[in-house]
Amino acid sequence: MIPENHPRAESLRVRDRLVECLRRGIVVEQGLIAHGRGEAFDYLLGERTTMHAREAIRAAVAMMLLAEHPVISVNGNVACLCARDVVRLASILNARIEVNLFYRSYERERAIEMLLRENGAEMVYGVGERASMSIPELMSERRRVDRDGIYMADVVLVPLEDGDRTEALVRMGKKVIAIDLNPLSRTARSATITIVDNVTRAVPLMVDMASRLRGASIDDLHAIVNSFSNAGNLEASLAVIRDGVERLGGGEVGSS
Ligand code: ATP
Ligand code: MG
Repeated sequence: MIPENHPRAESLRVRDRLVECLRRGIVVEQGLIAHGRGEAFDYLLGERTTMHAREAIRAAVAMMLLAEHPVISVNGNVACLCARDVVRLASILNARIEVNLFYRSYERERAIEMLLRENGAEMVYGVGERASMSIPELMSERRRVDRDGIYMADVVLVPLEDGDRTEALVRMGKKVIAIDLNPLSRTARSATITIVDNVTRAVPLMVDMASRLRGASIDDLHAIVNSFSNAGNLEASLAVIRDGVERLGGGEVGSS
């Protein structure tokens, strides 16, 4: 049992959830390690959504509302941590959901598809034979994509992505929206819009934002996207992390 008043209670609950998903074959061991890298950055961010992340969320949702074929790419960690909200977001934005795994196996694709369906998804792309197209110049299993999903998408949301594939998707002419707690990662640097936040907080906020912006005019949505600078936003997130180091390391060691 995790004590309610534990300072990292939420973070510990999320770990428990990931371990449970590992047992169910949704998450792989490497996914737990990747999560740990994210946690370190979240610690420095203060485990909260910054105003910069909120700005990025607004621009990201506007971009997805303007898209012709938006697709949400889902891996094991994302399915485990926010299946319900991914399905909600897809439904509001009229986006397709595609399973895309670095460590691909048919069993795991199916387990993730089932989890998404349990959470209300009607159609899940990228499973089994559906993932018959390849992203050029990419060697990992993540190159395999669905002809009717990521392959034809104009905007792809990649919550938790590897740098190689982000770069490859951008080279294919797609707009890429990443959610990545590390503002220094290749993914964060090469995406069109990067939301520096934990997926557990960012995806529900995207759902709220999508409901709010759904009625906005095309001109207003363009204005939101055009006024956003990814480089500036990453710089601002990095400044929050720098402040976090100062804040957390400010006291004298061993003085209390
Ligand atoms: P890149 O390939 O982009 O250079 P990397 O190789 O350092 O990044 P990967 O292992 O490819 O990292 O992907 C894991 C990334 O996902 C890390 O940057 C980590 O910060 C981020 N991450 C992990 N868990 C979460 C989470 N819950 N929310 C947001 N980001 C996360
Ligand atoms: Mg990587």
